[in-house]
Parts: sequence; C-alpha cells; structure tokens
Amino acid sequence: MIKGDKKMMYDLIEVTPKKNMKKIIITAVIILALIVLFIVIFFKPFKHLGKQQNNMVDNTTIKSEVATGNKTKHTVNVNMNPVYTDVGKELMKNIYHSEEKTVYLTFDDGPSKTVTPLILDLLKQENIKATFFILGSRAELNPEILKREYEEGHYIANHGYSHIYGSIYSTPQAVLDEYNKTQNIVKNILGTDYDGHLFRFPGGSSGGKYASIKNEAKTLLEQNNIAYIDWNALSNDAAGAKTKEAIIENTKNTIGNKKSVVILMHDAGDKILTYEALPEIIAYLREQGYKFKNFYSIIK
Ligand SMILES: [Zn+2]
Repeated sequence: MIKGDKKMMYDLIEVTPKKNMKKIIITAVIILALIVLFIVIFFKPFKHLGKQQNNMVDNTTIKSEVATGNKTKHTVNVNMNPVYTDVGKELMKNIYHSEEKTVYLTFDDGPSKTVTPLILDLLKQENIKATFFILGSRAELNPEILKREYEEGHYIANHGYSHIYGSIYSTPQAVLDEYNKTQNIVKNILGTDYDGHLFRFPGGSSGGKYASIKNEAKTLLEQNNIAYIDWNALSNDAAGAKTKEAIIENTKNTIGNKKSVVILMHDAGDKILTYEALPEIIAYLREQGYKFKNFYSIIK
C-alpha cells in the first residue's frame, strides 16, 4: 500500500460517517415534516382556536360542522334568526329577475319520518341548502327532523298549521293565526326566537274558491312583516306525476329557460318518488349552470 492509498482510506473512513450522519439528519427532518403535515391535515389541532375567534366576532352566527357524504368536513353559517328588512323586501320583489342563474329548491307539507330524512341526507351529500315550508301539525309530530333541517342550514318557512282549506281560509285572520300557531311550535322545538317571516299559501296564493280571502290575508301578512312566495316551476309530485320519470320531466319542462327558479316539491310521507327523482333534477340544474340558494340569501 502506497502512501496515497493510505491517505484515501483515511479520508474514506473519516468522510463516510459524516456523510451518513448528514443523510440520517435530512431523512429524519423530512419524516418529521411529513408527520407534522399529516397531523395538521387530518386532525386540525388548531381548528378550535379559529372557531372561538369567530364566535367572539359574531355571536348572532353559529358555526356548525357538517360532514358531507365522504370524510371531508365543511362549515356552514346558520343565522339564528333571520330579519326581514327593506333590503330583503326589495330582493323578494325581484326574486324572479336575478342576474345569475339561481334555483331555490322548496319542499312543502313536511317534515315526515319517511321522506324528509332521505332528502336531508341527499342535500347534505350534494352540499345544497334548501327551503322547507313546514306544517305546524307535522312539526309537532317530528320535532327532531325539524331541528335537523334547521341545524343543517336549511331555511324553515311556514305553510300554516292544518292545510285544511276550509279552516285556514275561513277568514283572513285564520291565515295569520295558523302562521303564528306554527311559528310558536317552531320556536319551541328549536328553542330559539326563530321566525322565517315567510309563508306559502296551501294551494297557492291566488285564484280558486278562496281568492278574495287570500287577497285580504296578503295585506294582513304584509302588515305583520311576513312575506309570501309561490313558485315558478314544479315537479307536479302532489298531483299528476305518478313516476320518477314524470317528476323529472315536469320539473325540466316548467324550468324551461327561466333564469331564476323557485321549484315546488313535497316532502310529505308519501312523496318517496320526489326523493328518487331529486338526484337527476339536481344533476340537471348543475349542468344548466344554476346556483343553489335558499331564503337566507334574501331574509338575512
Ligand atoms: Zn301544501
């Protein structure tokens, strides 16, 4: 062995452990970084801090975490008690004249044990907030489902108590009485002062045998700061449609080329076909470029 070789050997012996050490340190740092990244992404250890701050900033808003169909979570704002302001009145007047393609999915006559939870599951999966025109008499029977609608960010609107035309349309005052009766039931169930300020006349707000009573009732509602809304598209799930396909067709046909659409559907106990038709209706609306809204965007 010549002197140079000896020197090289010496260098190798000296340098190799240093190099290895460097490699080990770099590998350890990378692994540590990956572990930290993993914890941050999947466990969100600092999430509660942000939440506390939000609550401090705005205590009229509660934030609830909603698990979507898969494992991701998102946050929704739920206004505790919407207020019907002059701005809201203006927006309400122009509901069918929006700039962007807008759709309001509305469900009447619930909540029901059989259909409403299925619709809620689907809306959650699709991340869509809808509007439920509930009946006081049905809310009394299914308080937990009403609570769920509210907690998941849907708008709770009022469809009266009885849905019996002869009774709700006996006088204009009877309409307001049914509104208030239902509203008190909602307040008791939710344990808040919630008032949606929004009514839908059973059978629609105009025409028919009770047209004049309905007209007088409109004035009475207005005096009490309550809006009312009908619809400009419908699935016909309450009357004619006997198949899922018919419901989808009726909905598409009545939407037509409208830019802003309020779709009438039902979530009463016998409306399973509405639920079955809903995924295709939603897919169609998305395809057509509609943005889903509920009445929190008007009555804020
Ligand atoms: Zn109805």
